[in-house]
Amino acid sequence: TPLDHAAALDESTEVLRRVFGYSAFRGEQQDIITHVAAGGDALVLMPTGGGKSLCYQIPALVRPGVGVVVSPLIALMQDQVDALRDLGVRAGFLNSTQDYQQRRAVEKAFVDGELDLLYLAPERLRVESTTALLDRGKIALFAIDEAHCVSQWGHDFRPDYLALSELHERWPDVPRIALTATATAATHTEIAQRLNLGEARHFVASFDRPNIQYRIVPKASPQKQLLELIRAEHAGEAGIVYCLSRSSVEKTAQFLCDNGIPAVPYHAGMDSRARATNQSRFLREDGLVVVATIAFGMGIDKPDVRFVAHLDLPKSVEGYYQETGRAGRDGQPSTAWLAYGLQDVVQQRKLIDGSEGDEAHRRKQNQHLNAMLALCETVQCRRVQLLNYFGQSGEPCRNCDTCLNPPESWDGTVAAQKLLSTVLRLDRERNQRFGAGQVIDILLGKRTDKVTQHRHDQLTVFGIGTELNDSAWRGVVRQLLAQNLLAVEGEYGTLALTPDSAAVLGRERQVHFRREPERPARAAAVAKT
Ligand code: ADP
Ligand code: ZN
Repeated sequence: TPLDHAAALDESTEVLRRVFGYSAFRGEQQDIITHVAAGGDALVLMPTGGGKSLCYQIPALVRPGVGVVVSPLIALMQDQVDALRDLGVRAGFLNSTQDYQQRRAVEKAFVDGELDLLYLAPERLRVESTTALLDRGKIALFAIDEAHCVSQWGHDFRPDYLALSELHERWPDVPRIALTATATAATHTEIAQRLNLGEARHFVASFDRPNIQYRIVPKASPQKQLLELIRAEHAGEAGIVYCLSRSSVEKTAQFLCDNGIPAVPYHAGMDSRARATNQSRFLREDGLVVVATIAFGMGIDKPDVRFVAHLDLPKSVEGYYQETGRAGRDGQPSTAWLAYGLQDVVQQRKLIDGSEGDEAHRRKQNQHLNAMLALCETVQCRRVQLLNYFGQSGEPCRNCDTCLNPPESWDGTVAAQKLLSTVLRLDRERNQRFGAGQVIDILLGKRTDKVTQHRHDQLTVFGIGTELNDSAWRGVVRQLLAQNLLAVEGEYGTLALTPDSAAVLGRERQVHFRREPERPARAAAVAKT
């Protein structure tokens, strides 16, 4: 007999206390859990750290039968299952890392009704033997974790997820709960459609993390800037530093150690034992900094991470949000700090151009990058911009760099015209393309070897840009790239016009740029104390 809501709530609260040892539900957990325990379908959007796991674990325990959890995070299954077993929950998993014996044991436990939760990799459900197995036991619910994987637009698309729409046809009476931490309004709709969740109740938690102070600074010498940040605001505290490449992970960790900040590296190129050691040190020790590629962090649950620093630009706002979200899970003030520069844009565009996959895939990656660039270049509240990206609204937060120290915006139309026409002349008159450095030297009228060698001092645009300095011009290039008024191409990151450039050159379009405040980090630090 199905539980009514009152009974579902009573039993769920009892399980929360007895099994998990928590005294109260968090946020929307109570509504979600009673809804699913009573047999309803649900689509749950909750930021990382919000407490999604209990949303399916508790209903699975309250309802008769086994909760079947579909998750792409195979590497985490063992840990999840171990943690549940420590709590006395009967849990098991089936994935490709197991041998025949291990699989058989789990299958038998399932059929014998000796499991509460069964974790499956999504590809398992496309195997007939798995679906036949599921038919032989009683299923309490299906939980579809990381549900954005079903979306073409999400950053993590997996074809196996598409097959999950058939769960409902095969087991129409079993409630389903889909969960994700990374959904824009568009992904959200797509998840509901593709998973056949038309009847599901939607639970959308706020993506705001008020205790995180967001700051994005111009990149000059990133390691030194990081060291200053740690010394001034986070000495002796735990933090995560993200770098794009393995070699910069190694170098940055070494640099911090050399400067008296205890730090360890973490990336996929290290041997697995060293990686595991560093990860567990980070979890156990106080005040250790882990310098990592984005391979680090999935499933990491350390409450007192006081800062997350990015030394390179993340590929998407989803990624940025998820990575910065690892700061301040305990609710205490924390910093999300990103150093970002022209070279990041050049490098990311290059990665996208060189990536495998079709044109549509590259277009999607470029859209993701553009959204990230827009966040970097905004003159408005970073938090509002982030929330808007996730389809939510908010008020200026007074706890991000642009709120604490508002940047001015300036009319950069003339500067943009000068820069674009230099690129145009190189192309038209010389049939040449150059990177930002050379174009800026021409604008500044610098007679470098490379300038005289190419006779660029004879171009009519030579020296027409002395009103700005080198770093200001780099800001112009960066922001033109971010606004798609300029493109960067090829292995050498040469500059080229885009279809939109014409409107600026033809004086039909005005351009506004962000002017960096003088000393952003400092002002923010003062406001914090
Ligand atoms: P998510 O999957 O959304 O990232 P988790 O389910 O891993 O989040 O939960 C994050 C942390 O919060 C975990 O340590 C979890 O035990 C804890 N947690 C979840 N719900 C509660 C609660 N009601 N009370 C106290 N702690 C909770
Ligand atoms: Zn703000």
